[in-house]
Amino acid sequence: MDKVLEAFDLYRFYHAGEEETLALRGVSIHLAPGELVAVMGPSGSGKSTLLACLAGLDEPDGGYVQLLGRRLTRRPQTERAAMRARKMGIMLQSGNLFDHLTVEDNIRLSMQLAGKVNQQRVGELLQLVGLKERSRARPAQLSGGEAARAALAVALSNTPPVLLADEPTGEVDVETEKYLLALLEDYTKGGGAALVATHSANLAARAGRIVHLLDGRTTG
Ligand code: ADP
Repeated sequence: MDKVLEAFDLYRFYHAGEEETLALRGVSIHLAPGELVAVMGPSGSGKSTLLACLAGLDEPDGGYVQLLGRRLTRRPQTERAAMRARKMGIMLQSGNLFDHLTVEDNIRLSMQLAGKVNQQRVGELLQLVGLKERSRARPAQLSGGEAARAALAVALSNTPPVLLADEPTGEVDVETEKYLLALLEDYTKGGGAALVATHSANLAARAGRIVHLLDGRTTG
């Protein structure tokens, strides 16, 4: 399949009293296996809204999203959640780690939600992100860099064909950023497709393609 994720003409409006915010105004986007695409734009340009719609966490007011050739938009929430759990890795700003679970149990839970726990893969993931020694730590006990790596391990737990990330390197030091970028590159070299909203010039430099957003529209 040449497109793992496609969005057609997405619109998303927010209403607060008299105020209407046009967060997305006709955004179309596509993602192919092996691609790393950076979504860039100033704060408020619609990046997080776009990722939430692509993940099926939010429903667009117009347009639709197709995941592996299957429509994700306007399905019951449980169906969207199941499609997301099996086919997508998600690193959004709200975080994907449960505070009361250890790093290891967070990975395991993500596998459970997708239907199958693979204990060997849990160990491989901890090794991959360099958290083998921290597997029993809870998120609050992790440094910012460790938390970002744990979040990536959870996102990659089910070897998803699609990875969506919102500022995955936003709050980490330069060394951790390099490390995360190398992991992202490995993921895409293995055929994974990653769409990443970012302000990072380093990440953008590694991207095969950059989509610029401004006021809810793509500008190139
Ligand atoms: P970015 O991620 O690029 O900073 P967002 O997608 O967060 O942009 O926001 C796009 C626009 O939508 C902004 O004007 C923001 O204030 C508005 N917005 C986002 N979420 C909501 C919401 N839940 N309610 C009202 N307005 C929102």
